[in-house]
Amino acid sequence: MKFVTFRAGGERRVGVCDDQSASVRPVSLSSDDARSGVAALLGRDLTQLELLSAIPLDSVQLEAPFPRPTRNIFCIGKNYREHAREFSRSGFDSSAAMGEIPKHPIIFSKVPECVIAHGDDVMLDPSVSEAVDYEAELAVIIGTGGRNISVEDAMAHVWGYTIVNDVTARDLQGRYSQWLVGKSQDTFCPMGPIAVTADEIDAGDTDLRCIVNGEVRQTANTRDLIFDIPTIIATISAGVTLIPGDIIATGTPAGVGIGFTPPKYLRDGDVVRIEIDGIGALENRFVERRA
Ligand code: MG
Repeated sequence: MKFVTFRAGGERRVGVCDDQSASVRPVSLSSDDARSGVAALLGRDLTQLELLSAIPLDSVQLEAPFPRPTRNIFCIGKNYREHAREFSRSGFDSSAAMGEIPKHPIIFSKVPECVIAHGDDVMLDPSVSEAVDYEAELAVIIGTGGRNISVEDAMAHVWGYTIVNDVTARDLQGRYSQWLVGKSQDTFCPMGPIAVTADEIDAGDTDLRCIVNGEVRQTANTRDLIFDIPTIIATISAGVTLIPGDIIATGTPAGVGIGFTPPKYLRDGDVVRIEIDGIGALENRFVERRA
């Protein structure tokens, strides 16, 4: 099933998306429950949801499936070989001393406040960064929490998947050995708009691509992940209890802006579109604004 969080009639709603008819059927939820978006569905029997009458998708305002995650978004760095190489060569890799191809997953986070919706503007603030870059990523949605989850059991904890653009200020990422500031700038986590349940895709064999102003920059398959999804879940949950609604961005493939000579940083008016087969497309415009 494919779900979206959206606004209609001034209220946040959650609905089941139908690609064919380009419509959404709202789930009958209290407005209190709907406030958390798709998180309201975690732990529920999805076959028993009460669905209301379909409304056209183009008549609603889409939001991120998790408009404000309950805590930081977990992210994996340098998790595709070719990207690990291009990043190490770029001069912005403050983790380069650990080697070009990481021996263990590099885990960092983005603050929940930087999540924005499909169609929202990403803010470029030249007084803070002149080197903003895109990163197309498949993101895992944890449905069942746990601690010390084994690789074998990991997939049973996955509720579904969505798309994340792990927008990054490369200059800040290079300056500070901890990546949080460069990754958590306001508006730097476009997410969604669709969240699919785990049965919709084979997350270990899914194509993703990133298109900037119509030019394909990144194209890859999740088969090429250095650390696969079960390994990521086992690694994070070793001592850190995962909770339902945790989001884990699995890393980006080669073709980011710093992979080019000279680098192709995002400029005012650029449009970044990320497509993941079986999920959908996430598109955002980058707009210069001095805050
Ligand atoms: Mg990333």
